[in-house]
Amino acid sequence: MDSSSDMHVHTASSPDADVPAVDLCRMGSDAGLRTIGFVAHLDLNPEDHCYGGFSEADYMKELDLADSSEIQVLRGLEIGEPHLYMQQAERVFTRSRYDFITGALHWVENRLVLDEKAFQTGNAIELVEEYYRGILAIVQNTDINIIAHMGIFRRGMARAGFSTDLDETILFPSLLKKILQTMISRGIAFEVNTAGLRRPEKTTYPTAAVLRLYSSLGGRRITVGSDTHRKENAFFGLSLGRSLVTSCGLVSCGTFEDGEYTPAPLL
Ligand SMILES: [Zn+2]
Ligand SMILES: [Zn+2]
Repeated sequence: MDSSSDMHVHTASSPDADVPAVDLCRMGSDAGLRTIGFVAHLDLNPEDHCYGGFSEADYMKELDLADSSEIQVLRGLEIGEPHLYMQQAERVFTRSRYDFITGALHWVENRLVLDEKAFQTGNAIELVEEYYRGILAIVQNTDINIIAHMGIFRRGMARAGFSTDLDETILFPSLLKKILQTMISRGIAFEVNTAGLRRPEKTTYPTAAVLRLYSSLGGRRITVGSDTHRKENAFFGLSLGRSLVTSCGLVSCGTFEDGEYTPAPLL
């Protein structure tokens, strides 16, 4: 298998996305993808835009329609703040129906870190540290396959007019090390999310510095995902994301099928 996969693609089953999976498969195949890892938002924070918007039955129906011989369809889920909501989440999804589960941190207490408002009051660096404490709780305590878009707070920071040129491996070295070591020991893969490459912050989540630390600690499980929500940005930045991975000393990126990680060489 080659490495042409996109492991973070939202379908019309997510309230903030609008392209049906069947169209995404056709577009992905035209773009040279071999595998699409679809995800749907499962958010249980009542403040979240996607709260109450998940229906497993509808999502599965949509993916059934998309299943084709042209492209490998993997079934995934993006659970928001799983360290707080996993028990509730398990009442609305059936794990055996998914190839992979990603854990995402969008909210730090009542602040949505993707939004500029999160950074308009209080201390920005303290919020970033709280974000990473939340990530640590996720990787320590929840049964997920992939940690999604770690570092996505840069989106809120950039919108609020802050420089996003900070290095968390220097600001919080022991916290970052603990997160990455926990991921490695628990087999949780690191998603390199390319959506930030088309935004003012012009970076992947995580950044190259964090990826280099992961690689130096012995981490090898990488997935690459575009976080596609709309047609115009479909599959954006994947090749740049893959070259960043190789520049950080990693030689493969992979996929999850039935919860099992399969690496594919990066050329
Ligand atoms: Zn997300
Ligand atoms: Zn997403």
